[in-house]
Amino acid sequence: MGITIYNTLTRKKEPFEPIVPGKVGIYLCGPTVYKPSHIGHAVGPVIFDAIKRYLVFRGFAVNWVVNITDVDDKLIIEAAEQNTTMSELAERITADYLKAMDTLYVHGVDLRPKASEHIGDIIDIINKLIEKDIAYPSGGDVYFDVSKDADYGKLSNRNLEDQAGQRDLQGAEKRNPGDFALWKNAKEEEPEEVKFDSPWGKGRPGWHIECSAMASRYLGDTFDIHGGGMDLIFPHHENEIAQSESASDKTFSKYWMHHGLTRVNTKKISKSDASPEMQAALSKMTLHNLLAEYPGELIRFFILSTQYRRPIEYSTQEIESKRKGLETFYRLFERAERVCACSPYETADTGTTSPDKNLADACAGVTDSSLTESWSVAFEAFTKAMDDDFNTAGAIAAMFDLAGRVNVFIEKSGLEKGGSDQDKKDAITATAALIRLARLIGVFIEPQVKKSGSDDGLTDKAMQVLIEVRKHLKKNKDFATADLIRDRLTESGITLEDRPDGTVWRAE
Ligand SMILES: [Zn+2]
Repeated sequence: MGITIYNTLTRKKEPFEPIVPGKVGIYLCGPTVYKPSHIGHAVGPVIFDAIKRYLVFRGFAVNWVVNITDVDDKLIIEAAEQNTTMSELAERITADYLKAMDTLYVHGVDLRPKASEHIGDIIDIINKLIEKDIAYPSGGDVYFDVSKDADYGKLSNRNLEDQAGQRDLQGAEKRNPGDFALWKNAKEEEPEEVKFDSPWGKGRPGWHIECSAMASRYLGDTFDIHGGGMDLIFPHHENEIAQSESASDKTFSKYWMHHGLTRVNTKKISKSDASPEMQAALSKMTLHNLLAEYPGELIRFFILSTQYRRPIEYSTQEIESKRKGLETFYRLFERAERVCACSPYETADTGTTSPDKNLADACAGVTDSSLTESWSVAFEAFTKAMDDDFNTAGAIAAMFDLAGRVNVFIEKSGLEKGGSDQDKKDAITATAALIRLARLIGVFIEPQVKKSGSDDGLTDKAMQVLIEVRKHLKKNKDFATADLIRDRLTESGITLEDRPDGTVWRAE
């Protein structure tokens, strides 16, 4: 069975067949860099990063483009409010966004074109549309004439009559109320940096045409997958299709994939919701703040725990429940390392190529048949879920199942109290196989458990001193002080675990 994708354009799951066999071009709408990113901005990049990793594993050469919208009305307004230039604002917000992407292990983006660097490409498309009389200049603006596009509305399933009723009638120069701007005439009071030269006078591009231009520049007139949040279906993606297909007379994107929106207290976060209540909620939930509080791996895991077309319910409780889920894996990794005296992460790295072509055979050397059987079941369930419209939630369920089975094996083989070398080897191989499997969606890329931020292991060194002091206290029968140390650490969120082979610590 091959991969299937739910295509918004046809409203059904279709077999995935790239235009050029073996190659996949993906365009994902990126952020408008005027305000710090929030959780909603992380969803698309994390999902498509997992999708890219999986497609690469499946043998495809993937070219993934995510734009940066750095020319937009919102930037002009925000820069003026902050008394800065649009380019300074854009650079600052972009840097913050990229840092967050890195923390979330979004490492697969091949190209991040900026709208401000593609004004020439944008003008070319507009010219083509004017030549065909599908677009028309009007008072320094240029509009797209929706009545000239026979299949306008095919993505969002709307017809022109629907839209006419919903559009404001501002701009008496428009031929039809639904016509949208490709180019906007510069206003006198606007800063010089947003006044680009064009055949229609100084001005700036509309948001929709920016994406059309950057997508075709890097992926061609026709490419495989266009992605974005469901709030972009109309008007943004509908208009991208209209512009691009009218200019090239070719299909723009073969598959359209839209991810669900994030909900906070059951309210959707959408680009259009500017209510003070929602804006206040969002400003507290910037990615910057979120990633200061939670590890990137947890936020990534949280996002991937929901199938991408479903809405993501954001709440502290939800994050905490996912943290507990992740702990299940971390405890297994720690346990396997302890009983086998061997790092499962290092074992996962050894001999693994990227992409992990030999993953199906990751447990080839394992002699215990229950374990090899567990691996086959997990591998099949994981790939089946991912083949089915990239169901990362199903893939994660397969990971949990395998973790449970490896734990059972460790208990059954008595590895906590000794056990055979072969059983230890089997346990560490199966644990490493689980890590390799999870890496197909960008989870467990590096060890997390004792990672203590940027303190260069200082915390661990201090903890080892405390553990040693406590050991001496117990030896001298000063149990009260030994317990005091443990209790105070517990209060601070640090757990000490006394084990036969010594004491280990874990931060909550
Ligand atoms: Zn876009």
